[in-house]
Amino acid sequence: MGDSRGLDDAPAIPDVDLTRPSIARVYDYVLGGKDHYEIDRRVSAALFAAVPETSDLAHDNRNHLRRAVTWLVREAGIRQILDLGSGLPTAGNVHEIAHEVDPSVRVVYVDIDPIVLAHGRALLDDDDTTTVVTGDVRDVDAIFADPEVTALIDTTAPFAVLAASILHHLSDEEDPYAVAAAITARLSPGSYLLVSNFLDDDEPRAKALERAFLDGGLGTGRFRTWAEQQRFFAGLEMVEPGLTYANDWRPDDRTPTDSPTHTLYAAGIGRKA
Ligand code: SAM
Repeated sequence: MGDSRGLDDAPAIPDVDLTRPSIARVYDYVLGGKDHYEIDRRVSAALFAAVPETSDLAHDNRNHLRRAVTWLVREAGIRQILDLGSGLPTAGNVHEIAHEVDPSVRVVYVDIDPIVLAHGRALLDDDDTTTVVTGDVRDVDAIFADPEVTALIDTTAPFAVLAASILHHLSDEEDPYAVAAAITARLSPGSYLLVSNFLDDDEPRAKALERAFLDGGLGTGRFRTWAEQQRFFAGLEMVEPGLTYANDWRPDDRTPTDSPTHTLYAAGIGRKA
């Protein structure tokens, strides 16, 4: 868990609502960060009460993201990345992982939460390969039309879209399948879509966390089945080993082998032919 005071004593950030928890800040707290407020810690306590291994789940996701970004840049040759629902800067940011392989990789972070923009801008002040913009993943057209996105991402060349730990925050009514299809329609040949999500592998912890999200005022945290998640890759060729438990996707020596949340998180990458 994160720093116990977080941002409570820090100067106010414009547009940041302190009366409601935010997914980005709760996630930061669960990952051990410092960008959260009392309201976020209260909701996090309810998540931990429902599933004490909640931090492992977040770390399984970040570990997968690290391996997947490294693979996209090193093995697949990707040099431009659009990271949707990117979250607050944390240990091992996508641009830092990509730049370990090639410092010229361009990265655009997109998030709906104003705190992500504020902290991202501060972090990326002197980085001309990487930027952060505010956007809503439910409006894919607006994201792809954003001048800051088009300035860094050339959609006529191969690029990668990351949808890590974001589509499970959309309810069925918000139609995450249509969102994935809209992204896929934008991919040029040789581009990739990464999707990782909470997994409903038929165990009670999935339902307990889903309930804690709703009760805590965090909205949707929908655990979807394997079959539901496979639909996100419609129209794409799956990169080996396909849609798997996140920790089983090309594990390396830094991947946990005994994560207690192994069966609660799935991930995959699809390629546009
Ligand atoms: N992608 C990062 C990762 O996998 O570590 C962060 C995931 S975090 C759990 C989910 C992020 O999605 C939060 O930062 C939240 O603000 C953002 N988010 C939620 N709904 C969104 C939406 N409709 N459009 C864009 N971002 C959204």
